[in-house]
Amino acid sequence: EAIKQNDEPEKMPPPSTVRGRRKPVAPVELNKGNKRLSCVIKPPDMQTKRGKFLEGSRPNQKFFEMIQDFRATLEITPLSTTETIEPQRICVCVRKRPFNKQEINKKEIDVVSVPGKGALLVHEPKHKVDLTKYLDNQVFHFDYSFDDTATNELVYKFTAKPLVQSIFEGGMATCFAYGQTGSGKTHTMGGDFTGKQQNSAKGIYALAAQDVFAYLHHRRYANLDLSAYVSFFEIYNGKVYDLLHKKAKLRVLEDERQQVQVVGLEEVYVTSAEEVIKMIQIGSSCRTSGQTSANANSSRSHAILQIVLRRNDRATTLHGKFSLVDLAGNEHGTDASSNDRSTLVETAKINRSLLALKECIRSLGKNSDHIPFRMSTLTKVLRDSFIGEKSRTCMIAMVSPGMTSCKYTMNTLRYADRNQFWHHTHRCVC
Ligand code: ADP
Ligand code: MG
Repeated sequence: EAIKQNDEPEKMPPPSTVRGRRKPVAPVELNKGNKRLSCVIKPPDMQTKRGKFLEGSRPNQKFFEMIQDFRATLEITPLSTTETIEPQRICVCVRKRPFNKQEINKKEIDVVSVPGKGALLVHEPKHKVDLTKYLDNQVFHFDYSFDDTATNELVYKFTAKPLVQSIFEGGMATCFAYGQTGSGKTHTMGGDFTGKQQNSAKGIYALAAQDVFAYLHHRRYANLDLSAYVSFFEIYNGKVYDLLHKKAKLRVLEDERQQVQVVGLEEVYVTSAEEVIKMIQIGSSCRTSGQTSANANSSRSHAILQIVLRRNDRATTLHGKFSLVDLAGNEHGTDASSNDRSTLVETAKINRSLLALKECIRSLGKNSDHIPFRMSTLTKVLRDSFIGEKSRTCMIAMVSPGMTSCKYTMNTLRYADRNQFWHHTHRCVC
């Protein structure tokens, strides 16, 4: 037998498996050809010509071939742009970024497959006790899964776009980019960096801003008499810094009604998407400047862009708010390499805030009365976005394709596992 079964017993998923649950294997849906999801490599004398010919041409050639063989059995259903989008209170998606030039040069192995329909597979290379190589193929399910050819526009359409309308209906919305540093969070939210210039017009921030102004001028909402404002700030080490005001350090206050306020946060009145883009550029350059190593700090901070709708009354009453969050890299929890005390404190803060965020979204999904927003500065500041009937949340988990990122990718997917959020969640009525 060339293909042997893995030690793990093959479990059939229960017929009505809740979406988002991680399944060890999914033979029915993903393996119509009835090949096993796990296989061991052929003994040397049975190796194919192809295997021999290419041997040594890249590190881990065997794993590369095993993944190629596995992919050949996958049925791919690309996400169609015409697909209808059902509004949901909580939406969890995943996006795989393409390889960059260095990774291609290094002949990195792509261990992530996106067959479509919200599914994503990780082909985790593993060794048995006797050192035979095998793939641990794991399936994750999300509301939508975006492969490495997806554009920011496509991702936007299925993630943040449906939320824009909800802020006009008087709701709060949040959209998070979660993942390892280098997985594409800033690319997705802020726009593409080619060279030193960021193309902010193509990020979710800007695309959302465009739609906000389209709605603002729309007949349907014109009589609400609203104005739009933006603020852009960063949370680093539990402290808030205003990115539209030279990184001024701001205080977070909570009044007796548990209303949280970021004191003195700049809220800029804006009248067009172009003006918002200008603010994004000012804020983004402020975010990365002044540091010894340009990106080191930004990967350890959360950046939050808020688009706020206020009524044009005397008190400029809050009508709706959209918070778009580029989260700190989630790799720090697994990074025990540092002995530096301040780094460890930073790491603890990042972990705590990401955990708090997960707990808050989970409570929201359960329609729980108690939302543990006080666990971190991040969730405190976003408190008003988590409460209320009309609040909506979208989480985009970003993953890198490479084998060297496998551990981090698995962490990201486990965190975003839709099942954690989905339990008892109701379809949104707005
Ligand atoms: P993060 O913010 O998660 O640390 P970045 O957004 O900075 O990651 O992305 C890391 C690198 O990968 C950047 O050079 C970025 O331009 C590139 N990149 C990320 N996602 C994509 C994508 N979908 N298409 C092309 N390049 C991407
Ligand atoms: Mg980034």
